[in-house]
Formats: sequence, structure tokens, C-alpha cells
Amino acid sequence: MWIFETMDFENNLAFAEAMDRDDPLKELRGEFIVPQQGSESVIYMCGNSLGLQPKVTRNVVHGQLDQWANLAVEGWFEGEEPWMYYHKSLKELLAPMVGAVVSEVCPMNTLTVNLHLLLVSFYKPSGKRFKIIMEAGAFPSDQYALESQVRFHGYDPADAIIEVSPKGGALTLKTADIIAAIETSAEEIALVLFSGVNYFTGQLFDMEAITESGHRAGAIVGFDLAHAAGNVPLMLHDWEVDFACWCSYKYQNGGPGGISAIFVHEKHFKDKTLNRFAGWWGYQENIRFKMEKGFIPEPGADGWQVSCGQVIPMSMYSAALGIFKKAGFMGPLRDKSIRLTGYLYFIINEVNKSLHFEQFKIITPEDIEQRGAQLSIVATKHAKEIFGELVKRNILGDWREPNVIRLSPVPLYNTFVEIFQIGQQLLAICNSLPND
Ligand SMILES: *Cc1c(COP(=O)(O)O)cnc(C)c1O
Repeated sequence: MWIFETMDFENNLAFAEAMDRDDPLKELRGEFIVPQQGSESVIYMCGNSLGLQPKVTRNVVHGQLDQWANLAVEGWFEGEEPWMYYHKSLKELLAPMVGAVVSEVCPMNTLTVNLHLLLVSFYKPSGKRFKIIMEAGAFPSDQYALESQVRFHGYDPADAIIEVSPKGGALTLKTADIIAAIETSAEEIALVLFSGVNYFTGQLFDMEAITESGHRAGAIVGFDLAHAAGNVPLMLHDWEVDFACWCSYKYQNGGPGGISAIFVHEKHFKDKTLNRFAGWWGYQENIRFKMEKGFIPEPGADGWQVSCGQVIPMSMYSAALGIFKKAGFMGPLRDKSIRLTGYLYFIINEVNKSLHFEQFKIITPEDIEQRGAQLSIVATKHAKEIFGELVKRNILGDWREPNVIRLSPVPLYNTFVEIFQIGQQLLAICNSLPND
């Protein structure tokens, strides 16, 4: 167990090594392939963008290629895990990742496609209730999806989309301001759609409070969990979230372009008025192959499937979720994540202290209730040079214009020593830059 119950961090190697030694999840790093540069491991801080490859993934994919080679079309119904039912075992792993009942989740398609499919069902503008409330600065794909959905229903995005922005020069939103925005337009809102964690600021939203407020206004509430799933614990069912979707390739290590998944709350299962863009794979499973006219959905989230199961991407996602299961899912990972990212927060401020000015300004809230793994750090001077130097020194974060460096320590595979080293390197880089 953790010996350092408090967060009295120290800026020295011995402390970081002791934290790693006492990390109850330290063995998990060995499950991943950490990229090498020469004889050194890269310090990978980009798990918010593309998670690392689990060692087991290659074997799992080869297993599916073997099934295809050996059984060909019979693989749909035969073999150890017939493809026809492959998504079912994956659903068992998805449910604890997001706090859902198994029937509420289903892997399918890719993220933005799923967002569109869910909006077809859950954005139901009518009369003066046609508006959507979202955070300003949402991920571009979500903005485009919503604009195009609004236009599809014959509205102008300028009238129909309300963006909530931080107040008074703040960089992140207050829950109270989100709720106030919902209440101000209560009668006009059809849908509240937020991210769980904003990709740019790293802010973790109070999804339970937002859901409650949206429902009080009479709106449907959905979340894009791209940066939240596999990063922070979620309780979608208990929070009564109406729908959600996420991708598998960020914190969940499902591989580039990997399969997405959806959540639909069970309270909607019996609603026959919901529109959907249907396909044969969402048809009731036991009579699907009668190939009859007239769509009858499979009960639950599975009824939103459109095309036949994407077995290889599902197998990659399943391999990766096996490691979350080993970890005990999100509880233990979040315990470590709070410490690991807390340590990064501390180390960045140590660098500022050594430099005697605020070279780095952290946008992400310090409060653990309002952040996940990622810190978004503004480099107030020489931003591009600093980021370039980090890359040269095998520290891989990511860059957002004009001056933001995002670093995401991932509790599955990052270490406290890596964070200590980032501090040492940042200090060395800044000391070597011209002083202007
Ligand atoms: C990463 C991300 C996406 C990416 O969508 P794809 O369809 O998988 O390319 C969409 N929305 C959010 C909020 C994201 O963070």
C-alpha cells in the first residue's frame, strides 16, 4: 500500500523512487510496450491522445487472424469465441469501466459516428425547446457534429447552440456557472451535451450535477467521455446520464482508430418513440437471420448497432481492458492517478520556484475533483523551444497552439521517477534559454 498517505511531496530522486517502490500497481507497467529511443525508454506523457500498446494485444489479434484463417465464414458461429457474440464478453468489461449495467453499453463504430447516431435518437428539438448547451472550446469534432445535427433539423447553429464560457478571466468553468446557464435557458433546451473531461484544459466536470440540472430543466443529458473513460471513475447509471460515448484509443489503450462504445441508460430501453438510424446488426439477435422486413431492435444498447461486429478492433479493446480488470478497474487506478498527477503539479511548481518566476502556468484545476490525469501547462515564455527540447530529450507530451503543453501521466504505466525527471529536464532546458 501507499506509504505516503498525505501529499507531502519532495523534489528528489529518493522520494520518487520510494513512491514507485510502494506503488501497489507498479507491476502493470510491464504489461505495456514503452517506446525506446536508443537504449532509453521514452517518457510517454501522451496517453490522453494514444495509449500505449499492451504486450498481449499482438497475440490476441493473431488469435483472431488464426480463427479467420482456420474457420473462415464459420468463425461467426464457431471457434472459442464466435464473432457473432464477440461483443458480449467485451460488454462485461465495459460496464465496470463506466459504471453501467451490462445491457446499457455496447462497442461499435468510431466515436464521432456514435455521437451522430446517439444524437439522432436523443436530440429531439420541438417547438421552442430546440437548443443545445455545451462547453465553449469543446473538441472540434463534437462542435462539427452538433452544428451539422442542428442544421439537419433546420435550425441555425448560431441560434440553437449555447456555449458556456468561463467567467471573469477564469480559464475553466465553475459548476455553478454551468448550472446557471442551464437554468437561464431552461425552457428552450432540448439537450445538454458536455465532455466528461475537456481535452484542452483537462478540467473534469461534475457530471452528476450537470445531469441533475439538465433533467430539472426538462432536457436530455449526454456526455462525450473520450478523455474521461479510463481516466476517472464514472457512474453513468447512478447519475442517470441519458447517453454517452467514448473512444478506446486514448486512456484505454485500444489502438489507433480503435473501436468506440456507447452507453444508453436503461430507462430509455422501452421508449418506442426514439428515432434511430438502424442497420441489421441492431435487429433482434435471435431472429436476425430471418432477414425480414420491418426493424425490430435488439433490447438495450445493442439495438443501436448498425453494422456487423468489428472483431479485430474489439479484440484489441478487450485485450487492453483485461489489464484494467487486473488493476481492479478505476478505483485503484484513480488512487494512483491522483498522486501521480499531484506529483507533476508539485514538480512544475518546483521548477517555477527554482526559476524565480512563473515560467509554467497550469490551466487545469488543482482540485482533484476537477481534474483527471492530464495537466495543461502554459509555457509563458519560449513555449515552442521548450516543447522541442522536451522531445529531443525523449519526453513525449503534446502541443496545443499557441503555448500549451499537455502532459498526462497514466497510472497504468507512468512512474514517479519519470515525473521527477521531467522536472529536472524542464529546469535544465529553461536555464539554457536566453533570459529576456
Ligand atoms: C478524441 C476525441 C474525439 C475523436 O473522435 P473520433 O471520431 O474518434 O476521431 C471526439 N471527441 C472528443 C471529445 C475527443 O476527445
